[in-house]
Amino acid sequence: MDTDVIIVGAGPAGLMLAGELCLAGVRPLVLERQPRLRQTPKANGFNGQIVELMRYRGLLDLVEAASGRPIRPAAGAPFGGVHLDFSQLADPPLWAAPLPQPRLERLLDEHARELGAGIHRGHEVAGVSQDDAMVAANVRGPDGAYQVTARYLVGCDGAHSRVRGTAGIPFPGTTYPEVNRLGQVTLPDSVTRLDNGDLDVPGLGRIRAGFTRTDRGVFGFGSLTAGALLIQTTEDEPGNVDDDAPMTLTEFQDSIRRVLGADLPLGEVIRLSRYGFQARQAQRYRDNRILLAGDAAHQFPATGIGINFGMLDAVNLAWKLAAVISGWAPPGLLDTYHRERHLAGARALLQTQAQVALRRGDDPAAQALGDLFLELLADEQPLRRMGALIAGTDIRYPMPGPSRHALAGTFAPDLTLHTEQGATSVAGLMHTARPVLLDLADRQDLRETARDWRHRIDIHTAETDHRPADALLIRPDAHIAWAAAIGEPAGTAALALREALSSWFGTPR
Ligand SMILES: Cc1cc2nc3c(=O)[nH]c(=O)nc-3n(C[C@H](O)[C@H](O)[C@H](O)COP(=O)(O)OP(=O)(O)OC[C@H]3O[C@@H](n4cnc5c(N)ncnc54)[C@H](O)[C@@H]3O)c2cc1C
Repeated sequence: MDTDVIIVGAGPAGLMLAGELCLAGVRPLVLERQPRLRQTPKANGFNGQIVELMRYRGLLDLVEAASGRPIRPAAGAPFGGVHLDFSQLADPPLWAAPLPQPRLERLLDEHARELGAGIHRGHEVAGVSQDDAMVAANVRGPDGAYQVTARYLVGCDGAHSRVRGTAGIPFPGTTYPEVNRLGQVTLPDSVTRLDNGDLDVPGLGRIRAGFTRTDRGVFGFGSLTAGALLIQTTEDEPGNVDDDAPMTLTEFQDSIRRVLGADLPLGEVIRLSRYGFQARQAQRYRDNRILLAGDAAHQFPATGIGINFGMLDAVNLAWKLAAVISGWAPPGLLDTYHRERHLAGARALLQTQAQVALRRGDDPAAQALGDLFLELLADEQPLRRMGALIAGTDIRYPMPGPSRHALAGTFAPDLTLHTEQGATSVAGLMHTARPVLLDLADRQDLRETARDWRHRIDIHTAETDHRPADALLIRPDAHIAWAAAIGEPAGTAALALREALSSWFGTPR
């Protein structure tokens, strides 16, 4: 066997997986077909729960430094053409990091290498095969073809995943017949930006800020940074576009001409990209020794969430895979990856397909749906719920065992903690990605119970201002595996904790 884990693809999912595996003690081999770090502009930033998770890993300072802008909750978010306005909420539900994808990938690449991952660029995986003992990848590298074997292989190779294809994992769903083209541009002096944000174009007249539907598609624009506009066209065309193929200025101008019926003069072009929409989900995220994560596992028909869900797949998978490789994983641990992340992907499909219905509808009924939707969002509770859906923070993983605590299965809140060593927080305890038993009520019975697992989990005693439970057992992916209710009797609490520890962290040494 050449290595423990091969990761195919060095996008956000593959690179995050590489770093997380290293933290868990496994050094993977990453094979990426592109010879250099990505230049093609894709995402302009990322949002959702992964932003918080990166803070829990101590990576958010690096993201902030690289983006040159503070990481804040988003003031709003688009939802199928409807604007969700979070600006009035005291603690908005969606965090956003304005770091363009190529810079995110550079940061994750450096981080994973520093931790010990081997990242080989210019190595394309042509196919994979597996038997009960190992998985093999046939690779085309700069020096010719070769084969590499491993105990596990993870396909993080994007929407057109060859790993998924050669492993025979079905990818059912819908490809929408539309192509979106995006250009970040400046405008020449001949085009006037009016005080209310509209455009005045010679020979064309006034174009309203936001989205304009024409006979041939949708034209939209808005400000991204001072001086530059983000322009988008949407046209009905056969879908399944190649997101990675560069878009030319001519292609963009032709599309604008088709949609508006006239030319729009453009100034400096800062970036151009294109994307299509699919709603698809791999039937299985695991096929024996082959696993899928990121766009290889799911495609959502709305922008702004792919990176979040893909990187969260990686965080969920890494420690489970490392446990199997280290030999202490309890039975069934690796299968919880499919169970939990397929569920998360299905939730994301639910809300993004609802966005398609809102966005693509073009009749009075669709208009009524949009108006009604907007009316509901005037209330705080549904607005928060929509924010949580987009962020992926509404997901509660099903937890085995007797714990029925409301926190079990949710993302651990970042409590401020007072310890004998000084002030810290839940995020501060998760930098090394080790599981944590957090004793919040000086419960010696629970600390004693966990002592047998000390080599695998950290045990901390702390006080917090608004104690949500007597103790929390937090997994490396920052999800709560088990919680002791306040005042839960020692006998039952210790028994339940022992059961949770065994089912997530194996038998003690
Ligand atoms: C124009 C555009 C705008 C977007 N905007 C946003 C946004 O604002 N926010 C957001 O969250 N998401 C956005 N997305 C989606 C986001 O870019 C994807 O969800 C994200 O890139 C998925 O990451 P990934 O690591 O799963 O796959 P990818 O980023 O696709 O990475 C896959 C990697 O695998 C490599 N690879 C493929 N096949 C092989 C092979 N056979 N052998 C070796 N290597 C291989 C590829 O070269 C690539 O580097 C946008 C996408 C586009 C196209």
